[in-house]
Amino acid sequence: MNLSTSKLDGMTRRDFFKGSGAAAVALGAGGAALGTSPYAKAQQVSDGETVHEPARDIKVFGEADVVVVGGGPGGVGAALAAARAGAKTVLIERYGYLGGMGTGGLVTIIPNMSDVTGKLQIAGICKEWIDRLQARDACDCPKKEEWGSADPKLVSYWHNRSMFCVRMNRVEYSAHIDAEISKCILNDMVQEAGVKTYLHALGTQPIMEGNVAKGVVFESKSGRQAILAKVVIDSTGDGDLLPYTPAKFETQMHPGMRITALSLVFWVANVDIKKLNEFKETQREKFEEQNSELVKLGGHDSFMTSNLKDQESLLWFFNRYRNKSQIDVEELTRVEMDSRKSMLITHDYRKKNTPGFEHSFIVLTAPQLGTRGSRRVLGDYQLTAKDMACNDPFPDTVAVFPNVDTSDTFPIVIANDSSKDHPLFYVPYRSLIPAGVDNMLIACRAFSSDQTVQEYFNLIPHCLAFGQAAGTAAALSIKSGVNLRKVNMEALQASLDQQGVPLPSRKEILSAKR
Ligand SMILES: Cc1cc2nc3c(=O)[nH]c(=O)nc-3n(C[C@H](O)[C@H](O)[C@H](O)COP(=O)(O)OP(=O)(O)OC[C@H]3O[C@@H](n4cnc5c(N)ncnc54)[C@H](O)[C@@H]3O)c2cc1C
Repeated sequence: MNLSTSKLDGMTRRDFFKGSGAAAVALGAGGAALGTSPYAKAQQVSDGETVHEPARDIKVFGEADVVVVGGGPGGVGAALAAARAGAKTVLIERYGYLGGMGTGGLVTIIPNMSDVTGKLQIAGICKEWIDRLQARDACDCPKKEEWGSADPKLVSYWHNRSMFCVRMNRVEYSAHIDAEISKCILNDMVQEAGVKTYLHALGTQPIMEGNVAKGVVFESKSGRQAILAKVVIDSTGDGDLLPYTPAKFETQMHPGMRITALSLVFWVANVDIKKLNEFKETQREKFEEQNSELVKLGGHDSFMTSNLKDQESLLWFFNRYRNKSQIDVEELTRVEMDSRKSMLITHDYRKKNTPGFEHSFIVLTAPQLGTRGSRRVLGDYQLTAKDMACNDPFPDTVAVFPNVDTSDTFPIVIANDSSKDHPLFYVPYRSLIPAGVDNMLIACRAFSSDQTVQEYFNLIPHCLAFGQAAGTAAALSIKSGVNLRKVNMEALQASLDQQGVPLPSRKEILSAKR
């Protein structure tokens, strides 16, 4: 076939190039299929500065009540809650497993589930997941009777095991979990709940009619497809759907905050921990010297033990990389590459100089780069630092978190110890609703918060809680045929309560002053 005369939607290729300016780009050579194939319809033309994408039809792949984009803690929570409440739910995840940072990012510490008195504050789906891990010996955490204990022996034991298990000199319910077993358990949980899950599928943009979300477009090996839904939940962590809606969002962060750093977590196996500990205890100064030298060389000085059964020879390296943006592909690529260089510097140095590392090897790098902070939606209510200094619940409280603003345990530049007088932090449903958009909820770390609230409360248990609240609200709005903003709050709170989510009592909520 002569390509120069083949048909492109009624035009010859010559006409096509003529009409589109000098710098036209024709991708590949489709041969005989040109003119009828999706390839031909998707031809793009560039004027050198912009690529003009011709309008095209997208196949409707399916319809659902609720579509959740992103299968991390927020997305799993949302999909499970929506499906369990009877909504036909679809979950779209870009990678081949669920769990987000909690599995693929190798972020396997689930902290702050109890307050300093030992009372469980974050439970529901989060607790279910931890219990299932525990049943498989895939989790290390203090026993229930130890939560809140100030017994110095227990505090010291748990502090040595993991600094995340102690806060304000009391034992806290925090867990170290197995990332691989987690992936399997999360799969089981979504399958048992009847969530229709699509892995290896990237949610690219919401389908909007004005300010109303109507579904999601996603891309996969099967091409570009659409799912129509009554409610769209953005659980991408980064609020990837937001730029395609009228919602506004923020990204600014104080330099030095935890959330400003990207990480490529890696594991080193076959470390002789006994030998390493002996060296650290008997030659502390030498160990500190090595750490400084390593940092000067461009490596990482800190690491943690796994604590999981049969993983005694494993160390986790949690590094931090400053960056200009956590949603800029150039920055993500630079950090990914720099991290690997730095990982080799670290391991080579340790192997040569630090007793215990002689026979160690790098067993794994996180399949996904660790992102701590990016877009934060401006919701119907934006949680700010002021909300951390308040003891009143909101009338629409859907989650309660232990306030962790303590300068002794949380290494944050802005700590002001608000948790001493204000031990709990309340989350209103409105902080999950993007202002100016209908039929959409944000259930991930992109929830509506200023940078201070984000710094403290964007962790895995928190995001699971946002998800559980959002999924439940979505199902309720559909069942009762009302807009997400009109969901009956008493019914939503009662449903969360039935699911084991700790909330303030009805009396406390009714007497709340805000
Ligand atoms: C190195 C590091 C250490 C941390 N330490 C801790 C800690 O010790 N404890 C703790 O609780 N938290 C910790 N955090 C924070 C915590 O991991 C995250 O804030 C939390 O996982 C956020 O959950 P999420 O569901 O919002 O997002 P994520 O966990 O990022 O999950 C988002 C999911 O959406 C998917 N996704 C993204 N975009 C798309 C798209 N367009 N289409 C389809 N799928 C998409 C992703 O693949 C992912 O599965 C840490 C974070 C990092 C990076």
